[in-house]
Amino acid sequence: MIKNILFKIALAVVLFMIALTGCKKEGASSYPNFGKDDEAFTIYENSFLEALWKQNPDWATSVGYHKYDSLLFIPNQQSRDKMLDFAKVQKDSLSRFDVNTLNESNKVDYKMMENQLDYAQWQIKQLKSYEWDPSSYNVVGTFAYILNEHYAPLPKRLRNFYQRMVNVPFFYKEAQKQIKNPVAELTSLAIEQNLGGVDVIEKDFADSLQKTNIPKAEQKLMTDRAAITVKAIKEYAAWLKNLKNDHPRSFRLGKDLYEDKFKYEVVAENTAQQVYNAAVLRKKYVHQQMAKISRQLWPKYFANKAMPVDSLQMIAQMIDTLSANHVKPDEFQSAIVQLIPKLNNFVRTKDLVTLDPTKPLIVRKEPGYMAGVAGASMSGPGPYDKNGNSYYNVGSLSGWPKEKAESYLREYNQYIIQILSIHEAVPGHYVQGVYANKAPSIIKEVFGNGAMAEGWAVYSEQMMLDAGYGNNEPEMLLMWYKWNLRSVCNAILDYSVHSNNMTKEQAIKMLTTEAFQQQAEADGKWKRVSVSSVQLTSYYTGFKEIMDLRDAWKDKMGDKYKLKDFNEKFLSYGSAPVKFIKEAMLAKPVTKKL
Ligand code: ZN
Ligand code: ZN
Repeated sequence: MIKNILFKIALAVVLFMIALTGCKKEGASSYPNFGKDDEAFTIYENSFLEALWKQNPDWATSVGYHKYDSLLFIPNQQSRDKMLDFAKVQKDSLSRFDVNTLNESNKVDYKMMENQLDYAQWQIKQLKSYEWDPSSYNVVGTFAYILNEHYAPLPKRLRNFYQRMVNVPFFYKEAQKQIKNPVAELTSLAIEQNLGGVDVIEKDFADSLQKTNIPKAEQKLMTDRAAITVKAIKEYAAWLKNLKNDHPRSFRLGKDLYEDKFKYEVVAENTAQQVYNAAVLRKKYVHQQMAKISRQLWPKYFANKAMPVDSLQMIAQMIDTLSANHVKPDEFQSAIVQLIPKLNNFVRTKDLVTLDPTKPLIVRKEPGYMAGVAGASMSGPGPYDKNGNSYYNVGSLSGWPKEKAESYLREYNQYIIQILSIHEAVPGHYVQGVYANKAPSIIKEVFGNGAMAEGWAVYSEQMMLDAGYGNNEPEMLLMWYKWNLRSVCNAILDYSVHSNNMTKEQAIKMLTTEAFQQQAEADGKWKRVSVSSVQLTSYYTGFKEIMDLRDAWKDKMGDKYKLKDFNEKFLSYGSAPVKFIKEAMLAKPVTKKL
């Protein structure tokens, strides 16, 4: 549910390959062969980023670097060649540094930059999703960002918006030339998402213009161009609808591409296959624990009623019964708001991790442009806005039909809203974000590792329960296991579908009977796995790698081990892959005082 951050990561990954046309080759190679030290490396990093933004204006806008907001460049072979060029030049520049002479933080930066450059090359040369993923062609995200994020006065943002629209028709013409054997599921998604964004260009843009003093004549030019832009988007959608596609590519990535994509995107110690194997074992273990707890709770809730022989059915009945313990629809928002001080207190009392009172979490009602998704999500400041606020966006259920609200509240019951708030806010995504912001590196945020961020959030749930959150109530623990199974089964599902041909029927059966999900949730998950790959494994992979790292750190520290030290040391590296943090944390021997 960390949707803003996820959106940024998704956008970043996609846009890294949508390179620019018409910009001069430039970058660190024009720097002299300076000394192999941290100062020189920092200078190089800045020039690297400057060149990267020039190459990827959409990505730049999304991270809060606004120099290129008015630019939209075109996805074609020429742009990809420029991107390959960029990667080659930058890899060459990187290779002039000896990674072993750099400090801890720069070492991690170095490895992350190297990985991203390899990933960009692999995407263009091997993955080639520009040929088969029509949903990668969508201009709307960045326009919505320019409209909704208040980083500059509205007239200035609207004029950039206007400038940026000029190339949209050309953008979609080029898109049509690139697409060769589109995946059917991604074609539908592209149609849905592109048409879904039309309102931003047509309605939201015009509404915003009215709030400004921009002269009417100029406004007319701007809305005229918006009309042309909308037409281009609709034509692209219509073209996709009519596309004859005799040999559509399967939405399944296949074992080899999957393993490679996992390597570049997750950057884990384990292979995808190894993570899958571990997830299968974890599912078995969690089922055993859940059966034990359910058996123990059975008499309390069912008195003398006979227990089902099938333990999965017994667990399902127990979860169903506990799910009735939920708030009323109009109390949903306030119930979540009230949890934050409670979580802060618990973290302080148990001394789990230091909270920074100067960077408070601001709880707000979900802003209009995010509406539609209830629950809660985090919006943290971007890499170029380190002093920005962290918001916990809490949705309301007002206006929901009764049945839909009831089903939602059963899912987000009294137990789960607490786990959700731990995950999203304290000490999950919000706290991780505050520490990441203090890490002296823009690279780590720009290339922020999704598995680390999600892994930390999942890890923090278990850490809180281990510390006694929820008074060790078996009900709470059972619900957490259900929640944890979601991460575990996400990983199993993703790998099985993309590498092993798991069918839709098998997937739905696993999600409903073994992960105890409602039909609607399972259907949604199937849709997600058919239009994405690897991202769904990040929750469990990150969780597992952090738990493994903590074990290794415990061994290393012996009787000097303290949970708080581990948490803070781990977070201090910023949003780097767990694998690189591990290499750093375990590198130095412990200095033993005798
Ligand atoms: Zn999350
Ligand atoms: Zn109810």
